[in-house]
Amino acid sequence: MNKPYQMRTRCVMDTSAGDIQFDAQGVCNYCTTFLQKSGHIIHAEPAARRQQLDAFVARARHESQGKRYDCIVGVSGGVDSSWVLVRAVELGLRPLAVHIDNGWNSELAQSNIANLVQGLGSICTPT
Ligand SMILES: [Zn+2]
Repeated sequence: MNKPYQMRTRCVMDTSAGDIQFDAQGVCNYCTTFLQKSGHIIHAEPAARRQQLDAFVARARHESQGKRYDCIVGVSGGVDSSWVLVRAVELGLRPLAVHIDNGWNSELAQSNIANLVQGLGSICTPT
């Protein structure tokens, strides 16, 4: 890392990410890309966001007819991915929950995932 240390206010990314760049306002390239791809959702009115979500769910269910799963949800055992999995089930989707031990697994995370999957039923158990 030859760049001087830098971290900006929009997110917690800093120069420890080797390919990070900041624009004149201090927004990193990760945030810029995210906002370009999802800004139409973030800035939409709640009703419009709900319409987009409903359309996504309908498309996923339609495209997965005859298949066991409607979508794939990566789960780490943390609250964010757990919430996404619960929400997918609440929306009527049949998610395949995927967890990969990247060397940072904790027993708590594994326990959380097991409890979550069991609590949601056996929908996430591959045959
Ligand atoms: Zn950022």
